[in-house]
Amino acid sequence: GAKAAGRNTFRFFDAGMEARLQARRALELELRKALALRQFRLMYQPQVNLATGQVSGFEALLRWVHPERGVVPPADFVPLAEELGVIVPVGEWVLREACREAASWPEGIGVAVNISPVQFRSPRLFDSVAAALTQSRIDPARLELEITEGALLHDTDVVLEVLNRVRSLGVRVSMDDFGTGYSSLSYLQRFPFDRIKIDQSFVRGPGALDDKTAIVRAIASLGASMGMRTTAEGVETAEQMERMRAEGCTEVQGYLTGRPLSPEDVARRLAQPPLPPGTGTIP
Ligand code: C2E
Ligand code: MG
Ligand code: MG
Ligand code: MG
Repeated sequence: GAKAAGRNTFRFFDAGMEARLQARRALELELRKALALRQFRLMYQPQVNLATGQVSGFEALLRWVHPERGVVPPADFVPLAEELGVIVPVGEWVLREACREAASWPEGIGVAVNISPVQFRSPRLFDSVAAALTQSRIDPARLELEITEGALLHDTDVVLEVLNRVRSLGVRVSMDDFGTGYSSLSYLQRFPFDRIKIDQSFVRGPGALDDKTAIVRAIASLGASMGMRTTAEGVETAEQMERMRAEGCTEVQGYLTGRPLSPEDVARRLAQPPLPPGTGTIP
């Protein structure tokens, strides 16, 4: 411990650090119990097809509804859940729940599920995807798995085999947060994706608009020539949507298409009339 290491280490192990460690241990315990206590919820964010103006699907987004902390966003607990391995059973629940919910939507409305790199590399992935499909009886083509570069880092052969196996079920796979990693382009060449999700930073945020637009144009064109669909993420304004359309993206998703919705609000959203194609805002 700190004592054995000598006096000098004392300042590195102060009361504040002790308190932080205790808070973290408490959070760990709570996170391990959260699934059994049914504290997770899924919210669904609409994705809109730019050619038709219609909702084409929803992305399932995980929330932890904590009795004292309130609604905890994934950024605040997914990294810890990955460290603890808890993300595997939690991710399996997400798969089952999202497919179960999608079974009550009209045919042809897709559901996209985020898969943690830890879950992607778990030997249970294929079986849990197959089980979610069997239990919900949805058309496998309606399910899309979103994976990030973190899932693709090691063992190209293993990654390729997992991707091919899930795609053999008819499930689609998309590359999430495209353009933010180190080797996005080489992954596109190596792995069979159905869709590129263009990271929000190229739609909004810092940097010259001309540069971001040029990047979106290049990715959309790359996607088109490789037979992939392209979704622009984080679209908040009608102007951004029109720019994504002009640059050739096939879908948009963001606060403009809708905030992440509860399952009840999804049904209401689907009852709304579609947008005329090629026009301004989304209701
Ligand atoms: P992501 O998959 O890239 O999801 C998009 C994130 O951007 C979501 O945040 C969404 O609420 C937010 N967003 C969407 N449109 C807009 C917009 O117009 N403006 C702004 N400012 N934000 C927008 P959320 O729900 O907090 O999720 C964050 C990340 O957590 C996700 O990024 C995904 O990587 C991860 N995540 C979410 N659900 C799951 C899950 O079930 N399993 C795993 N392993 N990770 C998840
Ligand atoms: Mg995603
Ligand atoms: Mg993303
Ligand atoms: Mg993300």
